[in-house]
Amino acid sequence: MEKEIFQCRRCGHCCHGETTVSLTREDLDRMIAHFGLPEEEVIAKYLRVTGKVIQMRVVDGHCIFYRDNGCSVHPARPWRCRQWPLHPSMLTDQANFSAIKDSCPGIRLTDYGDFKRKLAAVLAHRRSEADWG
Ligand code: SF4
Ligand code: SF4
Repeated sequence: MEKEIFQCRRCGHCCHGETTVSLTREDLDRMIAHFGLPEEEVIAKYLRVTGKVIQMRVVDGHCIFYRDNGCSVHPARPWRCRQWPLHPSMLTDQANFSAIKDSCPGIRLTDYGDFKRKLAAVLAHRRSEADWG
C-alpha cells in the first residue's frame, strides 16, 4: 500500500537546507550505538546543540550524513527522517498535503481524497516509531 502513495526518488531535497530535524533522546541513543562512540564524541563530530534542541550538523547546505545521493546513517537515522514524508497531519490538513507533495517528488498521488484514504491505511499499521523501520 505504501508504494501506491510514496516511493522515494532519491532527489535529496529533504536532506538539504540550513536546518535539519530535531533528534529525540531515542534518536541520539540509536546514533551512539550506531557509531559505537561516546555521546560527547558523537555530538562533537556530527550534531549541533542549541539549548535543548539537538540536530544534525549542516555541511555544504545539507545534513552532514547526506552522502553519495543518500543517507549514510540510514539504519540509525532519526525518527523524523523515518517518518518523512508520510506525516499524519496530512490526514486532516490538505494545505499540508499540498506543501509536502510540492517538496517531495516521491508522493505519487495528486488526488487528496485518494491519498488520504491510503495514508490512513498505512498509518493504521504503524503505531510506534519501531514500525517505521
Ligand atoms: S524529498 Fe522525497 S523523494 Fe526526495 S529524497 Fe526526500 S523522501 Fe525521497
Ligand atoms: S539523517 Fe539521513 S535522512 Fe535524515 S536528513 Fe540526514 S541524510 Fe537525510
